[in-house]
Amino acid sequence: MRVLLQFPEGLKAKALEIAKRLEKEGNEVFLSASPCYGACDIALAEAEAVHAEKIIHYGHAPFPLKRKTGIAVEYVEYPTRVDFKLVLRKALADPDFAKCKRIGLVTTVQHVAQIGEIRRFLEKNGKKVLIGKHGPFAKYDGQILGCDPGAAISADSKADCILYFGGGRFHPIAAAIACKHRVMAADPFLGGVAWMDGEREKYLKRRKGLLMAAISGKRFGILVSVKPGQFALEAAQRLKKRLEEVGKEAAILVSDRVEPEALENFHSFDFYVNSACPRIAIDDWERFGKPVLNLAEAEELARLLRK
Ligand code: SF4
Repeated sequence: MRVLLQFPEGLKAKALEIAKRLEKEGNEVFLSASPCYGACDIALAEAEAVHAEKIIHYGHAPFPLKRKTGIAVEYVEYPTRVDFKLVLRKALADPDFAKCKRIGLVTTVQHVAQIGEIRRFLEKNGKKVLIGKHGPFAKYDGQILGCDPGAAISADSKADCILYFGGGRFHPIAAAIACKHRVMAADPFLGGVAWMDGEREKYLKRRKGLLMAAISGKRFGILVSVKPGQFALEAAQRLKKRLEEVGKEAAILVSDRVEPEALENFHSFDFYVNSACPRIAIDDWERFGKPVLNLAEAEELARLLRK
């Protein structure tokens, strides 16, 4: 079979080894060299160009794609076993964490296979552990994505705090924005723990300021990514109509990656509305040189203006 393999950055070092194994099994193998941002990001253009019959996407769990690919997509998860005890002992030693009796435990797909062991370790140390039901884009209970903190939200109402286990701040920021209780991130790679305090307040404050400013905005560029898991054309079309009904000008801008550099010369727009990965408006908004609203925020704006 002719296959295109796709790897997130952290797994690209394994690409050649996996390609050679698949070739030995009789496949013709191509490697996507494009950046891969998540389970939503399927290298469809590359696969079509090389006439691949299947895309094998490594490192993520299946994701509900919004655009039909026409080419089969197989997700191959790549769990990583890590020593969790060292970093969890640090969490347990934290005076504020020590006060939390009920812990909502969340992690990424990379570590979700260890969630049972992590739970038992915390329980042995006197905690009641809650594993929340996964959200619409995740596959496993307790698993969160940068765009889907559903498992954290599900545990939030019954927990005293949320514990995110995994690398980086991308996922715990999503949980911190979505949850009422405090979120602690325990990073087994750096061996440190940190409370994600303030992320939610920072986000809500900025969002309120953005909405107030957008009320007087005139021209809105609605950004649509053609990535199969991010494609939201119908929602963008609905929003364009709504904004026009309340007296705004709007146009839909279509691209693969939503990149500030590619938008630099669209001087006419006062605001952008991002319908692609929701993290663009949370993490990268400063790079755009213009305010960026998420789709839900722009819909709220249209509702406010209609009143
Ligand atoms: S939409 Fe964004 S956060 Fe969600 S999987 Fe894709 S890249 Fe990650």
